[in-house]
Amino acid sequence: MIQASLVRTARDFRRACQEARQAGTLALVPTMGFLHAGHQSLIREGAKRAKTVAATVFVNPMQFGPAEDLSRYPSDLDGDLRKCAEAGASLVFAPEGPGEMYPAGYQTYIEPGALAGPLDGERRPGHFRGVCTVVAKLFALSRADCALFGEKDYQQLAVIRRMAADLDLGTEVIGRPIVREPDGLALSSRNSYLSAEERSKAVALWNALGAARAAFAAGERSGQQIVGAARAALDGLRIDYCDLRDPVELLPLEQRADPTSRLFLAAFVGKTRLIDNGALGEAG
Ligand code: AMP
Repeated sequence: MIQASLVRTARDFRRACQEARQAGTLALVPTMGFLHAGHQSLIREGAKRAKTVAATVFVNPMQFGPAEDLSRYPSDLDGDLRKCAEAGASLVFAPEGPGEMYPAGYQTYIEPGALAGPLDGERRPGHFRGVCTVVAKLFALSRADCALFGEKDYQQLAVIRRMAADLDLGTEVIGRPIVREPDGLALSSRNSYLSAEERSKAVALWNALGAARAAFAAGERSGQQIVGAARAALDGLRIDYCDLRDPVELLPLEQRADPTSRLFLAAFVGKTRLIDNGALGEAG
């Protein structure tokens, strides 16, 4: 197993990435840490595509709203270093603190467009502005050949892909499938907040995707009916959104649903907000 080397400053990260690029190709995997098998799948894919994989571990305050879970976000840097190495990342950038990314006087932000409007963009004002800003900085520091993101955060992936194209950032954005627990719950660092009882309720998100897919497979094409089936399966959770949209522009479906139409879910299990999504025509 390769030992992952840890850098704590933007300057050291830039230098380490430069060396890696001189030796071959570089893949970037940005994360907020508390890594799980979903993050590791991104690192593994990066290792297939590039000579060096750099993972970043940074809980970016800019993408959290004032009432969100920034201060209690879980962390375990030693565990993360081990999991990075195990999956094939040889470089880990964990900024010492927010000041390393946003030093005094910082005042420049990236404002995404329409893709960041609905869903999490609407529910979490400023979230994607924070995401885009930090990801653009990580692209600039690393100048990676490619960067890997999970479809777990499908809207984020779409927004970042658009940003990289619009701003000619020169890093290829690659999306990867959602890694799930055996019962279907999407892996998430936030699952660690769930009590045993909440954990058993959380599977309702997966059941809602299943209900939507089953309705579609049975011939239902009305978006309203399909969303209705999903909402019924979320019974007992506080629904933040449950929406069927097209997979490219993320616009609400106006026509009949098709296999690529995507159900987007956000729901609270107790105080924990979980998200999930999937195409109607995907195997459930
Ligand atoms: P996070 O640490 O939650 O910001 O996630 C870092 C990256 O890992 C993002 O690109 C996520 O979409 C991705 N990711 C998180 N959970 C999963 C999962 N269950 N399967 C695949 N990718 C994931």
